[in-house]
Amino acid sequence: MRDLLQYVNECTNELDLIGINYTLPKRWESSKRLTWKYGYCKISLFRNKPTIEKIVISERLLDERIPEHILKDTIIHELIHTCDGCYDHGSKFQSIARQINNAYGYLIETRVNDADHKIVSSIYKPKERKYKISCPTCGKTWGYKIKSKAYKYPEKFICTKCKSKLVRVS
Ligand SMILES: [Zn+2]
Ligand SMILES: [Zn+2]
Repeated sequence: MRDLLQYVNECTNELDLIGINYTLPKRWESSKRLTWKYGYCKISLFRNKPTIEKIVISERLLDERIPEHILKDTIIHELIHTCDGCYDHGSKFQSIARQINNAYGYLIETRVNDADHKIVSSIYKPKERKYKISCPTCGKTWGYKIKSKAYKYPEKFICTKCKSKLVRVS
């Protein structure tokens, strides 16, 4: 497992070198549950003064099997959100992203690019629904990732369509 703060350090050094005016969050976190996107930046507003509460990065990106550039792109993407006027993906955000991309050959975009998404989802495949039951009459099937109650005792369940008793398939 990669050390998030070590990569944060690398990224901030690079941004410092080209004079990007980001703000560090109060804390960095990695999250196991964050799978629907790779990172986010939580900013709170108090009397119109923004505070960067935290930046959260998906723990998947700390996996050594994921190319480093996806992790660094994500860290930098979230750091751009801490720059003045970059809370959204508007023209200010895009111009800073361009500046960083030009300097270091990154591919920071407003959203995850398809090639990167393919790499990550090929490593983190969704769990297969390998426990299947079906209706012997109409053929409707149901799949489960675990040995559910319906999988263990299919005869206790009836088809929602034709009311037949169900059977185990695999
Ligand atoms: Zn963003
Ligand atoms: Zn049926």
